[in-house]
Amino acid sequence: MTILVDIDHIDKIYPLKNGGEYVALRNVDLKINQGEFVSLIGHSGCGKSTLLNIIAGFEQASIGGVVLSGKLITAPGPDRMMVFQNYSLLPWLTVRQNIALAVNKVMTDLPAEERKEIIEKHIDLVGLRAAAEKRPSQLSGGMKQRTAIARALAIRPQVLLLDEPFGALDALTRGNLQEQLMAICEEYKTTCVMVTHDVDEALLLSDRVIMLTNGPEAHIGQILNVEFTRPRKRMEVVNDPKYYVNRGEIITFLNQQKRDKRRKRKVEVEKMAVPAIAAVRLVEKSVVTLGYVPTTDAAPLIVAKEKGFFAKYGLTQVELIADSSWQTIADGLANQRLDCAQLLAGMPLAMTIGVDRRRPTPIVTAMVLARNGNAITLSKKLYDDGVRDLQGLKEAIEATPELPHSFGLVDNVSMGSLLTRYWLASGGIDPDQDISLSLMSSAEMKNQLSKGFIDGYLASEPWNSAAVKDNTGFVVATDLEIWDGHQNKVLGVRENWAQENPKTHVALIKALIEACEYCDDRRNREEIVQMLARPDYLNLPAAQLRPGFIEPFQRSQDQAPELLLRFNQYYVEQSTCPRRSEAVWILTQMARWGITPFPKNWVELLERVYSREIYGKAARELGLQDGVDDHTLVKLFDGVLFNPDDPLSYLDSVTIHREICIEEIAIDEPVLKRTSRSLKTAA
Ligand code: ADP
Ligand code: MG
Repeated sequence: MTILVDIDHIDKIYPLKNGGEYVALRNVDLKINQGEFVSLIGHSGCGKSTLLNIIAGFEQASIGGVVLSGKLITAPGPDRMMVFQNYSLLPWLTVRQNIALAVNKVMTDLPAEERKEIIEKHIDLVGLRAAAEKRPSQLSGGMKQRTAIARALAIRPQVLLLDEPFGALDALTRGNLQEQLMAICEEYKTTCVMVTHDVDEALLLSDRVIMLTNGPEAHIGQILNVEFTRPRKRMEVVNDPKYYVNRGEIITFLNQQKRDKRRKRKVEVEKMAVPAIAAVRLVEKSVVTLGYVPTTDAAPLIVAKEKGFFAKYGLTQVELIADSSWQTIADGLANQRLDCAQLLAGMPLAMTIGVDRRRPTPIVTAMVLARNGNAITLSKKLYDDGVRDLQGLKEAIEATPELPHSFGLVDNVSMGSLLTRYWLASGGIDPDQDISLSLMSSAEMKNQLSKGFIDGYLASEPWNSAAVKDNTGFVVATDLEIWDGHQNKVLGVRENWAQENPKTHVALIKALIEACEYCDDRRNREEIVQMLARPDYLNLPAAQLRPGFIEPFQRSQDQAPELLLRFNQYYVEQSTCPRRSEAVWILTQMARWGITPFPKNWVELLERVYSREIYGKAARELGLQDGVDDHTLVKLFDGVLFNPDDPLSYLDSVTIHREICIEEIAIDEPVLKRTSRSLKTAA
């Protein structure tokens, strides 16, 4: 056998814009025989096209070279013809003219008559006689590809190079063309190198299947000799018992590479982070002020700082600023004291729309920092009166109409307060008329409950466990029971900051996603508790932080503690990904309770506030899935389904509610303003 193409130990190294380099191929060595059909198979991006382009002469190897019939390839030439997936025919020429152009250009030493013969012969070869006068726009995909093959073969190249030639065609057309190509190659004894990702195509056509490993530094991982006799018939090939053995071999290789790719990505991400000094140059700002309210939910921020995740992405000076209330945080963002902050789930929308006669501050949120983690605590007195659940609470309130019944909340737009209102209303308790809600800090709530000033509250940990421990209250419900997996705290940044610092924003999110992963791993939680407990962070005894977070969660002094695995959820189930469906739910609840109007242009508003683009970019750079299906129905504990694509029908269906306003929110630069006011009172 004569060796026609000698791919001699080649490397392909691409210089990168940031000064580094990408080694696409490493030490690829392959000899292709005269008349042989070779397929290159491997995952997307592994370097198949690069290798083919080097053989074609479109690109040069960085090390080593390709020799064809004893000559080093340095440029494209008529001895190697390429067929691409996208046909690349000249649109203004007919089938015949496209073929003729190549023939007349290359075969200049042949008399015109002979050239004409060759052209006509190749039109017949691919069965395009009837379409010879048609232009590409009048041809089907299969016909275009047949023209491209005829054009390539007409000049009798030594090697036919095909880059996923049938990838864009439907299965039937692809099948027909594969057989046609096979017949032509057998008749002409053409040497072929074909890139494909179709295992069956590779097996049907090839003498050898070359399996490439993933890049960077892709190389030949395995070679399979395909030994079916020629001429081949598809049905005979697929019915051959060897077929399934061969097929299994290729698929096993590809699966192995897929797993390897995932592992490599993780290592790469870690490697990338080592030169933090280099990463600094990749962000606009390495100094970032990040506000938070000290609760267990702040764990990802504290971990990102303490474990070096911020620094890893070039954010060398993140200043964590503990504020005592969510209102202080909101003001801090508005007056630019803070660049970004941990926010209650409802705050980005509420601040962008503007509540409590405050000037709107457009906020962008592109990441969820914590899910679940809240509970509703009722007083010891209610417990002693026999209240154990929502129904019991309703009866207790009805039995004592003369008494004031009050609840504490940290903010009107926290997910906790929206869930509490929802929970009360679903039990027939009007959260504004049957009880009075007051805003106060979590520490204050616990204090007031113990003194009998309030009947209950909703809070994050450790404020529920604390009341149970002191035996001043009991947990009537955790948010896991109300809506398992709801977003609780999100990252929010001022919109203008996001616009001015896009890279810093992505770096911040990458660092925080990694911190969330760290926080979700229960093996790290004791270490995290020690961190949170420190005077400069939560300033609480570590023992107070353990229930629910590490230790089983106790609902009342009479009940055995239970382990709640997802009570503090930071990372699993794409926890960090912002979901617009949840945002629409928040918008409906804020409107239901008269906190904000429901925006007529809610789709547009969400587009602006919930940035899937920023999250997607950060996630992709970390090798994670970059989004979720955001049109699924949401089901809460009462069985009511919420359709995020139809919030207005939902608002029509709610029973206990305030006056619901539906308004167009003007989305102008630089701040959002209200325009028209069209009030609608729901029945
Ligand atoms: P395949 O055809 O197997 O899908 P390619 O050969 O097109 O893959 O690309 C192989 C790798 O080389 C990819 O990771 C790609 O990003 C990289 N690459 C290709 N061209 C360049 C270039 N000009 N500069 C930097 N990297 C490149
Ligand atoms: Mg390719």
